[in-house]
Amino acid sequence: MDPYRLPRTVVPDRYDIRLEPDLTTLTFRGEETIAVRVTEAVREIALNAVELAVDEAVVVDAGGREQRATVTLDEAAERCRLVFAAPLATGSGRLRIVFRGTLNDKLRGFYRSVYKDPGGATRTMAATQFEATDARRAFPCWDEPAFKSVFAVTLAIDSALTAVSNTRILSETREGDRKVVRFADSITMSTYLVAFVVGELEHTEPTPVGATPVSVWCVPGKRRLASFGQEIAVASLRYFEDYYGLPYPGDKLDLLAIPDFAAGAMENLGAITFRETALLVDERAASHAELQRVADVVAHENAHMWFGDLVTMSWWNGIWLNEAFATFMEMLAVDAWKPEWQRWVAFGVSRAAALSVDGLHSTRPIEFPVRAPREADAMFDVLTYEKGASVLRMLEQYLGPEIFREGVRDYLRTHRFANADTGDLWAALGRASRQPIPAVMDGWIFAPGYPLVSVSVEGGELVLRQQRFNYLPEPLRWWGATPTPAAAPPRWQVPVQLRISAGGRQTEDRVLLAEGQTRRPLPAGFEAVVANEGGHGFYRVRYDGDLRARLLERLPRLAPIERFNLVNDAWAVTVAGLMPLTEYLDMTARFRDERDKNVWSALLGSFGVLTRLVRPADRAGLEARVRDRATPALTALGWTPRPGENELTGQLRGDLIRALGTLGNDRSVQAKAAEFYAAHERGTAVDPNILPALIAVVAHAGDEARYEDFLKKFRGAATPQEEQRYLYALTAFRQPALVEQTLGRTINGEIRTQDAPFVVRSLLMLVHAREQAWAFVTKHWDTMDRLYPKHGMRRMAEGVIGLATPEWEADVHRFFRERAIDLGGKTLEQYLEQLRVNVALRERESTALGAHLART
Ligand SMILES: [Zn+2]
Repeated sequence: MDPYRLPRTVVPDRYDIRLEPDLTTLTFRGEETIAVRVTEAVREIALNAVELAVDEAVVVDAGGREQRATVTLDEAAERCRLVFAAPLATGSGRLRIVFRGTLNDKLRGFYRSVYKDPGGATRTMAATQFEATDARRAFPCWDEPAFKSVFAVTLAIDSALTAVSNTRILSETREGDRKVVRFADSITMSTYLVAFVVGELEHTEPTPVGATPVSVWCVPGKRRLASFGQEIAVASLRYFEDYYGLPYPGDKLDLLAIPDFAAGAMENLGAITFRETALLVDERAASHAELQRVADVVAHENAHMWFGDLVTMSWWNGIWLNEAFATFMEMLAVDAWKPEWQRWVAFGVSRAAALSVDGLHSTRPIEFPVRAPREADAMFDVLTYEKGASVLRMLEQYLGPEIFREGVRDYLRTHRFANADTGDLWAALGRASRQPIPAVMDGWIFAPGYPLVSVSVEGGELVLRQQRFNYLPEPLRWWGATPTPAAAPPRWQVPVQLRISAGGRQTEDRVLLAEGQTRRPLPAGFEAVVANEGGHGFYRVRYDGDLRARLLERLPRLAPIERFNLVNDAWAVTVAGLMPLTEYLDMTARFRDERDKNVWSALLGSFGVLTRLVRPADRAGLEARVRDRATPALTALGWTPRPGENELTGQLRGDLIRALGTLGNDRSVQAKAAEFYAAHERGTAVDPNILPALIAVVAHAGDEARYEDFLKKFRGAATPQEEQRYLYALTAFRQPALVEQTLGRTINGEIRTQDAPFVVRSLLMLVHAREQAWAFVTKHWDTMDRLYPKHGMRRMAEGVIGLATPEWEADVHRFFRERAIDLGGKTLEQYLEQLRVNVALRERESTALGAHLART
């Protein structure tokens, strides 16, 4: 028997669930009747339950015989066994279960969220978060994605409160002092998509999209922050109905902002839940980055209504089908909604994050066999979302957007209200394109890593070669390593888009690089070549010195995403030791005229890494380099927006101010930021695109009085974005006593547990705070582990990558080894390998870097 899969001898078709949450005692009582099909005459039913008390379980089988079960709960296996005296008759039966549970504070299952109302009083609400396997904490159920059922929810609540679930309300009646809210039947769907939220809630006026009313919900006092989220919800819902060629599968769409929420958002059908920063925003007071976050997350969750909710992966190994597709569709929808945001160029930053992790020996394939659902927890990462979306984009561009969409429509139509696997998607795309999709795609999905495509000119021919890209020549040697058999070096089918300039003309060419190398003749009058034209490919390009020099001569003729890739790939090749750091630094001087915010994020990102590696004596030199590169751009842009200026330019201005004021430690920028911030305090309008940067710079240069002021502003923030700005500003103060204060607030309840792990991660990455932060983490690990939600420790521990000296590295290894800490999947190994990459770069380049920086 598989300990992770329930037997299929008795399977559910429908749940009628009634729950009575009590927000005062923080408990709930529940009762459910499950319509089941008995396929074998067994005496036992096994289903999932954890941290629930089952008071009674009674079955009536197809023969009409009623039997009471002997109930055993196995907390370790998260199962509930119901044993009956006589075998159940095969056919349709009814199982009734009465149970009790607690509204926990771990942000999973059926949990409580605590917030302050506009009058400052503390309030409690209840919400759910079930993915991947926490529905079993709210009601006993067959908690696997393939056991799709209809859910009919009834909530009996305090009559002063409001309840929301997946579907429309059928009736509201009174029972004593309780209000009984009965919801309509759901579509046939998986348990992890069931949701209910109970509390004092406000909602916006619904906007109809066809027959679907769309509303945003929040705690009282925040409705004024809902319109932007509602707008993108409506726009993306329309977009997806058109793209998928299938109507929205629910009967209404509510988007709910929950004050305590572990993830970013959750795609419960018809009742999508969000952390407040991902849904509520004041459009006039937010930066481009803050608005884009809301648009992205809302579009992503809406995309799931089809990809995930209507068609669901059969088991957790297929989670990429959900997440990669939702991420890909999110880009399409936001790009269609606001083309001026150039969303696909900005996606380069996400793709780069995936390339970064996937360049480790300890990476993993997008899809791999999963037995325990717990193994899938570590799948909610950059490889599933961003690498997955990148390879889909690459495939879309390779097949053509219309053919790709035809395949997606076919897949959804064929498998709606059911489950599917990767092979089903390939089959549908294959039917649409008449191409062998598995041959092209399997290497990208089922093998780890990606290729480095080297481009050179040899003997009058253009030569393309592929090899796997890795930062380190060998896998990391560490105490947790498990021996793996040596695999044949992987080879990918790489769709390489080329743009060749020759004789003053440009031509595009498409090569499927399937072997180790391929050659093609150079045209007469050859001038330059861009590989990965358009930037959609999930691979890196390494040009030989002459070809790179030719591209650097003609930067304005490259698209922004191509310039982004040129910088980002050169940096990766440098970190991998394939190009000298000094050569990379010289190259960055060519980008002083750059005006694209994404290209700048690649440039500034590399300086951000160097600031954690540079020897103390060389720090001033590195700061001067940052100023040398970034000052011309900020000078050209000025500090105030020009009339008719693009939103992205405003965001770039903010990014440059932040980088110069912190990384560049530029005194004049710090002084000017303080002036602008003071003007903002006096009520002068300041461009919202630079305000977050001003706050960060002022904190970086700030003293204790400023810290107190920012702390007060964090507590009294008017919007979720303002709260985040001041919260992260607390990490930027450089005085050790203030670092200590901020650290203390991550475990004393002042900073929400949904945010605290991320705050600690930032502190671990910051040069001025990392030593104190690491000491704090090692001292308070157990407390944090107890307080933080499920994935909190994994998120926080990522900060160890910033501890980039050999001494700290040894200490990090010692700590994790002695405590035998497992962060799930390959997470810890990936962090340790990234740390090694940084320390190796420091060991290899410190001397040359010092000499280079001493040059003026
Ligand atoms: Zn998602």
